[in-house]
Amino acid sequence: MPANQPTVLVVEDEPAQRDVLTYNLEAEGYQVSLAETGDDAVLQVTEAPPDVIVLDWMLPGISGIEICRRLKASQATRNIPVIMLTACTEETDRVRGLETGADDYVVKPYSVIELMARIRTQLRRVRPASVGEKLEYDDIQLDAETHRVTRAGHPIKLGPTEFRLLSTFMDKPGRVWTREQLLDRVWGRDIYVDTRTVDVHIGRLRKALRQNGGEDPVRTVRGAGYALG
Ligand code: CA
Repeated sequence: MPANQPTVLVVEDEPAQRDVLTYNLEAEGYQVSLAETGDDAVLQVTEAPPDVIVLDWMLPGISGIEICRRLKASQATRNIPVIMLTACTEETDRVRGLETGADDYVVKPYSVIELMARIRTQLRRVRPASVGEKLEYDDIQLDAETHRVTRAGHPIKLGPTEFRLLSTFMDKPGRVWTREQLLDRVWGRDIYVDTRTVDVHIGRLRKALRQNGGEDPVRTVRGAGYALG
């Protein structure tokens, strides 16, 4: 799978349901990871936090509701959107009552189109560039759909890696990214790239953004990594 694609963790014990979800999510261009049990889900979220979690209510072992409570109770995972799959009205009522802290819910049998729309809504919140939103930071504008970047109205030419770096920064201005986090997000988790490569591309991004003058918007955070602004 290409780097920089949004990642979705599907927590579902029924193989047929997992297959349908995987097929449709991959068709949308997402990277999919799967967990069959709550324990596995919690482990995976801790090791490699996904952008969105699709969580079935009915699971063997720890229930979906309990997993959701745990994720929402932890500082490290509480901001990851959780979409619960529920089966009956009673469950839906409890999710709707926000007892679980779930960000959204879909009732089974659900329409795939509906679920995909809900996922996009959550991604728009946490990773706007990944769903083609136009992003703005200071005098920099980035159109994720057309891959156009301008600064103070002037077009900026960027290589594909620099474009992915900039859209990652512009998703969350001010956030400090470590080199490892940038490698995961921009190059992908499965590729081995030296962290110094990040510095090289940051250098190119800085140069490109200043081709018509202006301040350097990329901040080096000593001992930590990089941030926009
Ligand atoms: Ca199930």
